[in-house]
Amino acid sequence: MSEKLYDVIIVGGRIAGASLAARLGAAGLKVLILEKDTVPGRTVVSCPLLLSSGMQLLDEIGIDESLYAPDNTRFAGVALEMGEYFRTFVEIPDVYGRHFLYGIDRQVLDEALWKNLERFPNVTQLENFSVRELLVDEDGKANGVTGMYKGGESQTFLAEAVIGADGRHSIVARKAGAVVTEEITQYNTAVYYAYWEGVEAYQAQEKEWIQIHSGCNGFSAVVIPASKGLTGVLAQCRHDYFNAPGGVDAWYRDTIHSFPRIAQRLKNAKQVTALSGMKNVGNLFRQAWGNGWALAGDAYHQKDSYDAQGIYDALLGAKILALQLIDWKEGKKDWVTSMQSYNREVYDALHPMFKSTLDRLKREMFTSPSPKMANGLLRWVLTNKKYRERFGLLATRRISPKNWASPGVMLSAILSGAAADFRKKPDQEKWWTLPALQA
Ligand SMILES: Cc1cc2nc3c(=O)[nH]c(=O)nc-3n(C[C@H](O)[C@H](O)[C@H](O)COP(=O)(O)OP(=O)(O)OC[C@H]3O[C@@H](n4cnc5c(N)ncnc54)[C@H](O)[C@@H]3O)c2cc1C
Repeated sequence: MSEKLYDVIIVGGRIAGASLAARLGAAGLKVLILEKDTVPGRTVVSCPLLLSSGMQLLDEIGIDESLYAPDNTRFAGVALEMGEYFRTFVEIPDVYGRHFLYGIDRQVLDEALWKNLERFPNVTQLENFSVRELLVDEDGKANGVTGMYKGGESQTFLAEAVIGADGRHSIVARKAGAVVTEEITQYNTAVYYAYWEGVEAYQAQEKEWIQIHSGCNGFSAVVIPASKGLTGVLAQCRHDYFNAPGGVDAWYRDTIHSFPRIAQRLKNAKQVTALSGMKNVGNLFRQAWGNGWALAGDAYHQKDSYDAQGIYDALLGAKILALQLIDWKEGKKDWVTSMQSYNREVYDALHPMFKSTLDRLKREMFTSPSPKMANGLLRWVLTNKKYRERFGLLATRRISPKNWASPGVMLSAILSGAAADFRKKPDQEKWWTLPALQA
């Protein structure tokens, strides 16, 4: 039993928790960060792409690129294939001096975040400690946690505030009674992935790309090379199409092999990790704070991995929360005022992208275009230069998701696509045509 008083206890030691601890540690707060696993230890379900927007936030907390991308697994952007109709390329624009994205290994990033905290003598890190209870004082204010070490010994820690950065199944959210304030279940998807060795590279236009293959039928696959010669191969489908009578492994194999453009890259490859994933990736926001507690990262907000924004959102939310906690600790604001600001700012920062991701899921995963539509309207829009540039800026969060594809952008894409089709000679080369499949 320990009664040492911390300024803040953070439950969860990965993206949201460790980045929050770094910001609070740098500001001189006395922080205790509790993680139920060892870090990196078990990998959380995540087969990530890391965009320059996230890298910029990692720069801010002193984490160098070489730490999370040791093998320099850079890509120009994403090659998006729409069935056998056409493909298009979304290049990452030059944002903060980086015009590429990384395929990364989550364990490597998590370890870099955790080790970074060793720089702060005022941050105490504890692994293998699972929080079981949120403690509250006689006024109903959260003031600590009780938990258990892996060996079974229990301990209590006290603090002025408790932050739940403990992921989608957050115990802090549950024990505090944080309500779900917004939830959209209509566009949930099932996502499973494994890492493979020996996957063929995807080269086009003299660059290397992350491959996203949409079957235009409610199913898709993504191929993400990461460190150590491993490549993540991910299969996704609408939740209502998920049917795995032979087990999830069989479903995964069948799904990725139903796409010849994925299967051809796996011809000489071997799956080297067990399958990871989930049947129902949720899309929701929870109440952000209460009396003496607050939530960050996936504990606060979850969304589909379709737009690869989870890490950025967790890093950004932690930054917004850190600024408010620092103001509160320095006496510039009381708890309620600082948390109201956190609530407003974090929601404004994350909600537009949440809506944009759901809109894309609705259009691209939950609608199956007719061949006429795919070869016409869809191609005109997705291959349009301006549209692709705007999409790159959206993915790196340089433009607001609220109006990234304005009616003007869409209309001009449709008109110029239709006009180009009309003018083209039949034998003219079309950059968006998919190459022949290997025999
Ligand atoms: C299939 C898939 C693919 C994804 N791909 C991408 C991508 O390409 N790009 C991207 O940016 N995002 C991606 N994401 C999302 C991203 O992984 C999450 O948004 C991110 O991990 C959230 O970080 P977090 O710190 O909030 O939570 P987590 O990373 O889940 O960390 C929570 C931590 O809390 C700990 N914890 C939980 N309970 C307790 C307890 N009781 N006591 C102590 N510790 C506890 C856990 O052990 C864990 O370490 C993907 C997600 C999925 C599911």
